[in-house]
Amino acid sequence: MPPQSQNSSWVILCISLVTSATLLSTPLSLAAPDTVTAKPEAETAPSTAPPKPALLARLGKTPNWKRLDAYQHTISRTEFQRLLQHNYLQNDEAAEGLIEILPDRARIIKQSNQPELGYYDLFFLSGTTKKNSPPLKVPRYWTPPWKLRSPLHSSKPLEGLHIAIDPGHIGGEYAQIEQRWYRIGKDTIPITEGDMTLKVAKIMESKLTALGARVTLIRDDNEPATKLRADELKAEARKWLNRKLGSRKPSKSKIESTAKRLFYVSSEIRSRSEQVNNKLKPDLVVCLHFNAEAWGNPRKPSFVDKNHNHILINGCYSKGEIEEDDERFELLLRLLQRTYYYELTMAEEVSKTMRRGTGLPPYTYTGDNAKSVNSNPYIWTRNLLANRLYLCPVIFLEPYVMNNKDVHARVQAGDYKGIRKIGKTYRLSIYREYAESVTAGLVNYFKKHKQ
Ligand SMILES: [Zn+2]
Repeated sequence: MPPQSQNSSWVILCISLVTSATLLSTPLSLAAPDTVTAKPEAETAPSTAPPKPALLARLGKTPNWKRLDAYQHTISRTEFQRLLQHNYLQNDEAAEGLIEILPDRARIIKQSNQPELGYYDLFFLSGTTKKNSPPLKVPRYWTPPWKLRSPLHSSKPLEGLHIAIDPGHIGGEYAQIEQRWYRIGKDTIPITEGDMTLKVAKIMESKLTALGARVTLIRDDNEPATKLRADELKAEARKWLNRKLGSRKPSKSKIESTAKRLFYVSSEIRSRSEQVNNKLKPDLVVCLHFNAEAWGNPRKPSFVDKNHNHILINGCYSKGEIEEDDERFELLLRLLQRTYYYELTMAEEVSKTMRRGTGLPPYTYTGDNAKSVNSNPYIWTRNLLANRLYLCPVIFLEPYVMNNKDVHARVQAGDYKGIRKIGKTYRLSIYREYAESVTAGLVNYFKKHKQ
């Protein structure tokens, strides 16, 4: 089912909650855009217009445009335009009035609701590259696979690589708050996505480590990364709802549910991203999730026949998302670091081994919040908070429909070694099947793309 059709679906819960298409006002003190310029020739003069609160994603911060100075003259106009149109924009109009492509530069509005505050000019790489000229240095904390040396031992094909695994959601006592929980039948094990992703992560950690990689779990228990809780986010929730509803007053229950969401989605993923970008600085992040389909009444959930898989990479920004100053800035950082090429080729390899390992057919989006970028039916490009904020290649996995009857039976069987008869078929544990099929794809990818 299309994730955007609101029908208490887990697909919505699992994916759409981590998008940030909606707007949040920020205090006036944060609203003035950065006007510090290292390259005065690349800037337009700021005006003296009074500042307005900037349009930002939930709990987003006003970008420091000066960070883009390091990417001046590092991309050609053709490549910039191609990446933008092919992958990052939901449609041709999505960046209209926000990112303008001129012959020698991209002109980017700094604060979308106040053009008089100026533009950031990103100059393109000019002319033809001379023979013997040094390779371009694109600032990024992660190492592209072609820069990694071949391993000394063939049994360690992932040597030199730092992989961070992000087990989606929090699970444990938070599973019901974050609405990643259901139970069918009195004496059954509840289906808890945050606990299931953690099981897969721990199996993957030992497999990838044995193959030579350095592996970090972004979460290794059921504790949130963020220190903030819903009660402390009520003022932010009210502010965001006021902006969204205009003159209508938000109800108390709406403020509470929004504050909860700010806790377990926005604040949680932003805390994880700080850990990834400031401390871990991995070469890639693998985000683990399980999917679900609409199950009707949440108090009486029902099984569905569907079961499928898909892999998300970052892209497909809507106009509303690009209007948000921080999202526009984050899009540009990803584009300039060329994460797309690595995410796409990695997703290709992982989709093949997951197809073989799980036997799952591809999921098809029917809405416009995701788009297909090549002929692989398993790969979709979509703007999620995690795959936007982790500033390195990210693959975001969505196999198995948790309210499918067979998947439910496999979760009841738990984790086990070897194969067991589940229903009419002998199967690996669902957790090992997931972990092994992803690991096999990563090995194939790095074997092909390392030096
Ligand atoms: Zn999920």
